[in-house]
Amino acid sequence: MTEKQYLTNSEEETRSLGKKFAKNLHPGDIFAIWGDLGAGKTTFIQGIAAGLGYKKRVLSPTFIFVRPYNIDSEKIKTLNHIDMYRIEKSGDLKSLGIEEFLNDPQAVSVIEWPERINKLLPESTKRIYLEKVDENTRKIKLISTL
Ligand code: ADP
Ligand code: MG
Repeated sequence: MTEKQYLTNSEEETRSLGKKFAKNLHPGDIFAIWGDLGAGKTTFIQGIAAGLGYKKRVLSPTFIFVRPYNIDSEKIKTLNHIDMYRIEKSGDLKSLGIEEFLNDPQAVSVIEWPERINKLLPESTKRIYLEKVDENTRKIKLISTL
């Protein structure tokens, strides 16, 4: 298990950390991104999307749970942005069809509020923790089990 920890001092720094992080992604990767509201999960994902060359705006999916972004690269074809904030109960997870997105071998998936779909997450899911230290400081921990 490897663990790396960073401190960022602005939204822009978190975005550029995400952008650098995107350089080491592989198709099939799944990242659970933990952190309270306002911790910077979506900001970090905006950086990942930019790092993968995605040019359009990245906002959290609101009325749907998954937004697949088309990526124009040789190996990674899609970035699945999943946000489970608004899920009501973990009762009928299967019917949401999220597994199909997670199983796409040419996609990278990033999940906000992963604790709400714990049961759907494969063993190989890597974890990212964001924590608000103060108004503009965030602690970002990357954990890989490989
Ligand atoms: P989440 O998706 O975790 O709810 P967002 O990324 O949507 O969080 O929002 C993070 C908020 O915190 C934004 O309003 C942003 O401007 C603010 N912020 C302040 N400092 C930072 C930082 N170092 N990194 C990321 N966001 C920060
Ligand atoms: Mg968010």
